[in-house]
Amino acid sequence: DIGVEADHRWHEIGRPALPPLDPAGHKFSRGLVHALAGKMPGAIALSCTAAARAGAGYVRVSTSLRIDHLPAAVVQTDTATLADPRIGCILVGPGMGDLPQILTLALTAHAPKVIDADAIRAIGEPERLKGQDAIVTPHEGEFEALFGKLEGNKAERALAAARRSGAVVVYKGPDTLVAAPDGRLGFAPPSPAWLASAGTGDVLAGICAAMRARGLEAFDAACAAVWIHGRAAEQAGPGMIADDLAAAIPLVL
Ligand code: AMP
Ligand code: MG
Repeated sequence: DIGVEADHRWHEIGRPALPPLDPAGHKFSRGLVHALAGKMPGAIALSCTAAARAGAGYVRVSTSLRIDHLPAAVVQTDTATLADPRIGCILVGPGMGDLPQILTLALTAHAPKVIDADAIRAIGEPERLKGQDAIVTPHEGEFEALFGKLEGNKAERALAAARRSGAVVVYKGPDTLVAAPDGRLGFAPPSPAWLASAGTGDVLAGICAAMRARGLEAFDAACAAVWIHGRAAEQAGPGMIADDLAAAIPLVL
């Protein structure tokens, strides 16, 4: 019981319809995710691996770190390629650390964005996201850091946040909600409590970016990612760590 009246724009998130693969496609037509990363190689690896496993045909990451354990991703030290019109989604936040200039750089680019983790805390005013075609994926603490203490239940807070920022908000937790600025609201079906472990949020952000780069619009991409993430956790089973979660994505697909 969410304590509000039923609305036709509200639904429980179900199995997503994913865009079909073009048999004549190539790696760039399958979706290019460009991650902007900072200080933490573990989170970078998890989110980029998840994006690749969720079907992005090409994952590229700009980082000043030396990363040599990500053979499926193209690791670059520069950010000149951010202007590449082929980019389907920019992923910023996982592994960013205390480098708010990385978020600022991301916000100068034209492509759709997935904004997670430290990048959420670096936004400041939610209005900064207006016109950005962004998905933000806050947990409770990050939600409050960005939107402050809002009135109402979780559904009402999620919708208010989406309206204010113009972004699709994935409000995470045991009862994840996806809210769009136009009032659409998706409720995640129950997912295993063993999702509560370090790195699983980075995996979710990577899946979101892949869905966006594969051509789903922001709300559908976020709902699809939340569904796949929960089902991957079921497949991986208790004892799962975030690496296993990313590895289980193909089983769900
Ligand atoms: P983060 O807080 O960024 O590491 O993300 C944690 C992920 O685990 C999010 O996708 C949450 O929705 C999910 N999660 C956290 N706690 C639970 C729980 N008790 N049951 C199910 N999923 C959870
Ligand atoms: Mg997180």
